Amino acid sequence: IEPLLKVEGLKKYFPIRKGILSRVSGHVKAVDDVSFYVNKGETLGIVGESGCGKSTTGRMLMRLLEPTEGQVVFDGKDLTSISNDDMRKARREIQMVFQDPYASLNPRHTIEKILEEPLIVHGIGDSKSRKKKVHEFLEIVGLSSYHAKRYPHQFSGGQRQRIGIARALMTNPKLIIADEPVSALDVSIQAQVLNLMQDLQKEFDLTYIFIAHDLGVVRHISDRVGVMYLGKIVELAESEMLYGKPLHPYTQALLSAVPVPDPNFVREQILITGDIPSPANPPSGCTFHTRCPYKMDVCTKIVPKLEEVEPGHSVACHLYGDKVQH
Ligand code: SF4
Ligand code: MG
Repeated sequence: IEPLLKVEGLKKYFPIRKGILSRVSGHVKAVDDVSFYVNKGETLGIVGESGCGKSTTGRMLMRLLEPTEGQVVFDGKDLTSISNDDMRKARREIQMVFQDPYASLNPRHTIEKILEEPLIVHGIGDSKSRKKKVHEFLEIVGLSSYHAKRYPHQFSGGQRQRIGIARALMTNPKLIIADEPVSALDVSIQAQVLNLMQDLQKEFDLTYIFIAHDLGVVRHISDRVGVMYLGKIVELAESEMLYGKPLHPYTQALLSAVPVPDPNFVREQILITGDIPSPANPPSGCTFHTRCPYKMDVCTKIVPKLEEVEPGHSVACHLYGDKVQH
């Protein structure tokens, strides 16, 4: 079966302009040759530190940002080659949930109006059926009809994110791209919102791309996880493999920072030093070499390709040749 979403060689280069003539003096390679797929009903986690290109990738999938290069094939249709008009129509089936629900909800509009808007934009239903659907979806995300006439500021952070999720669901999308949907919430509220998202996934047969800066957050929700560093995916694997046997030194370092629930299990601590290099001037070869404890000569010269080293497990690192050592 074809995956629901297939991304090939996706790039976003932002020009750097200098001087009074605004000459282009270089490019920030925010996303640099990213490829992956997502199967129907699956959740793909995308994880990395801020500035790694994960949000830029998410936005390009919906063409909220135009890719510099690459292909995004959704449900058999190449979104990168369709007209803006057709893209607007396609957005009915791909929706986004944002990190800061407050910033993404119009403060002057009632919740009813906010939730009705995507239906109006896509010409779905009449006024009466739209209102009915709004009330139905308020209940589905754990709020009630009683909240419909209120304004965003009258809700807590967790409730606002429920509203953001309801808004994303209004058009019956197939794919939801959630960009750090729980990062701004308290830990106890995070779990509630994650549980809600998992329930909704089953109920509505949704496919998720779940973006986060922390491997801990996506652990239980993701079937597979991709780790990004400086615009590239450095490791992509089924969750069990990624968490149980991380291969890339960067993934290992990120996991060292995640608390382990079992105190008898001691994970080797890998500490990375130094800051993330500027994406405007990334290191040669493997861009992680300036922070990698395993750096070899080859690492500064040759860019490692993302290669499958065992079924369901790909890594971009010169430490791994044809086979993984078990
Ligand atoms: Fe470290 Fe080299 Fe692997 Fe890059 S390619 S992660 S520098 S060992
Ligand atoms: Mg971001």
